[in-house]
Amino acid sequence: MPPETLPSPPGRWRDVARATGLLSPDGAVASTVFAEMSALALRTGALNLGQGFPDVDGPSWVRRAAADAIAPDAERGANQYPPGPGIPALREAVAAHQARRYDLHLDPDTEVLVTTGATEAIAAALLALVGPGDDVVTLEPFYDSYAAGIALAGARHVTVPLVPGPEGFRLDADALRAAVTPRTRVILLNTPHNPTGAVLTRAELDAVAAVAREADAVVLTDEVYEHLTFDGVAHVPLATLPGMAERTLTVSSSGKTFSLTGWKIGWVTGPEPLVTAVRTVKQFLTYVSGAPFQPAVALALADDTYPRELAASLAARRDLLCEGLEAAGFGVVRPQGTYFVLADAAPLGFDDGTDLCRRLPELAGVVGVPVAAFCTPGSATERALRSWVRFTFVKREDVLRDAVRRLAALAG
Ligand SMILES: *Cc1c(COP(=O)(O)O)cnc(C)c1O
Repeated sequence: MPPETLPSPPGRWRDVARATGLLSPDGAVASTVFAEMSALALRTGALNLGQGFPDVDGPSWVRRAAADAIAPDAERGANQYPPGPGIPALREAVAAHQARRYDLHLDPDTEVLVTTGATEAIAAALLALVGPGDDVVTLEPFYDSYAAGIALAGARHVTVPLVPGPEGFRLDADALRAAVTPRTRVILLNTPHNPTGAVLTRAELDAVAAVAREADAVVLTDEVYEHLTFDGVAHVPLATLPGMAERTLTVSSSGKTFSLTGWKIGWVTGPEPLVTAVRTVKQFLTYVSGAPFQPAVALALADDTYPRELAASLAARRDLLCEGLEAAGFGVVRPQGTYFVLADAAPLGFDDGTDLCRRLPELAGVVGVPVAAFCTPGSATERALRSWVRFTFVKREDVLRDAVRRLAALAG
């Protein structure tokens, strides 16, 4: 049968493709720009500063604990289904972490749920809490899975821009107040923020808390970079603001904090009714995952040293890459946290970041990701950030030095 006579499959997959900018006018579904750029890096031998994963693995003692949990020489290890909400040791470690770091006190049995990374926590929370007729408000640009999760749930995605300026990317508080209405069921926040590297200030968080209370909305806050902030800037969890713990679901993960992104051990914490709602959906998505990784992450969470040292080394690597990008002619907004820096290619004469990213391997032997990939297709923010590119600095210093040398070709 010729392909054009195949019926187009029914269902919500098309909404997901449209929301993530992957549906072309002829109905074809493109691969993501992340996949395209990673393939380009492989094909050309360019340095891949596109996808954000570390090129050095997390602490060997944590990896040893996971290997020991598999226990290949023993009769039994942690190789069968763990309990649905996560092993007690990990739920207790998450609760202890929130208490030690933020003075947030949680019942590990009812207010902590272990998930397959932050990604599943966010998807399950959206599927649990919103549907057709509901609005979900996020910042823009946004982590790409948000648009997909909102589309899967059948809700409407409303965005509030982060605007570049001398103080970094900052929340447009007027736009926030205009975006949040009685239709808003969930405000999906992300701080420290991917891709901009912004760490929301106390005043910005106060503005979010005020509109959430006003609209009686739940705040779902993605804090996977909670420990990766620089220059003494502190991450403030939204749940610590007055009156917010009861309406906030906080999501985090071991992937970024411990350089173990492939393990996909995440968690969501919050008041029992909200966590129960997420668990109800989550148990039919993956049920459980990562049995041998859960005890290892429970051990890791008691350690504040590795994340502190990682943040310090990332700050130095940020400086290295930012200086190289500036020397190459980019306009750079220095990030206060995360793995990423956004750079404006307009001063170099490029007005289209997607086009530049496709040519960058040839021009400079480096790969980045256009910021448009983190925007709603056709939005005002996409237009405003059209010439911007995201680069990651979670690579070894020698790799970054090489990248900086290569990028200097653009200035030539
Ligand atoms: C990496 C990342 C995630 C995904 O975390 P996992 O634990 O790997 O699922 C979620 N949110 C943001 C902002 C991220 O950068």
